[in-house]
Amino acid sequence: MNTSAVDQLFEQSKERSWRNASEDALLDFEFTASDPESLEGISHDPPPDEDPEIEFRYDMSGRGAKVRCVYCKYQNHYRGIVVRYPSGGRRLVGRDCALNHHGVEFEQHLNDFDAAIERQGYARRRRAFMAACAQIFREFQELKADPAVETHDRLMRQWRDGFLDLAPALINVARRDERLTITRKERDEAAEKLRKQRLGDRFEEERQKAKAAGKTWQIYRTVDEDLGSLGGALFFIGSVSVAKRLDAIQASVQQVFRTLSGDDLQSKQISGCFRKLAELRDELARELNRLDALAEAFDAGNLARIARWANEQAAEEIRLKAVLENRKAEPISARFTTDGQSISDRAGPRTVTVSLPTVYRPAPRTLLATLKAASSIDYEP
Ligand SMILES: [Zn+2]
Repeated sequence: MNTSAVDQLFEQSKERSWRNASEDALLDFEFTASDPESLEGISHDPPPDEDPEIEFRYDMSGRGAKVRCVYCKYQNHYRGIVVRYPSGGRRLVGRDCALNHHGVEFEQHLNDFDAAIERQGYARRRRAFMAACAQIFREFQELKADPAVETHDRLMRQWRDGFLDLAPALINVARRDERLTITRKERDEAAEKLRKQRLGDRFEEERQKAKAAGKTWQIYRTVDEDLGSLGGALFFIGSVSVAKRLDAIQASVQQVFRTLSGDDLQSKQISGCFRKLAELRDELARELNRLDALAEAFDAGNLARIARWANEQAAEEIRLKAVLENRKAEPISARFTTDGQSISDRAGPRTVTVSLPTVYRPAPRTLLATLKAASSIDYEP
């Protein structure tokens, strides 16, 4: 009897079972027979009355000619398995035919065989990812040291601490994904004229009635003016520093590495780790997007729109109050001013200014690309 690769593999396990094969043994095992018909001991004779063992699978669909099945007795399957008998013979059989002829216990073996193939795939992915560990953590350090992170976090603090009413107002606009809009309340003279015509002789009587009831007699309408979209929404929404978020993401990636470094992990455990990694990649992408958003937020046109929006809203409030109180509005000064990538608030005892440095470059996405590549199925370290 010849010693096959399967014998070598099973030597390391408690029983001859795919289920107990160690990860090390599985890693290099070639599950697919490329030329099943030429294997030693292959024959088309009726199978011996012995319990067969699953040895390989084959897939000859690329060749275009089917493989003869020992049970169908003709060339009936592209894909199937090679089974080997204790006495040394081998037979080629379609999967379904094998199941039909060998019953429940064999089905379990076939499931174990499939599970072993899957486990090999996960084990290879795990190895490849572990091999990228040093590179990944080096790139985490590089990203955290990127000047964009410090600039973003400093400006986010300055913005939130310096613009105590503008900052929360913009959070609302950004969260609702709204445009910068000014809503003005205006006397609706056309509607008032129509009412006068409608009431005719009763006009004065109705007016007195409304006055006595404390109702507003004037008719108002609201007019929206759209100033444009708010750029860099992620900058305005953000509250936790990018540095802190990157530390947290790195700690979670480290935890995944710790889990993956365990011995003989099950496919489910490894796939769970890669799912977690995909989530962490999304979280990392969001932090990188926040660094991009800083540049969009401080774009000169965007800042000018924000200042105009804030100023005109304040002016509108003052004007409307004066209108309702039937008096002249006090002069309105422009509270917010911008100068290129700078915005200032002149309301307080001293002017607060927040500026984007002239040279600001969002951090490169190297780490994100590395994480993606290293957790993909065909990654070669
Ligand atoms: Zn068959």
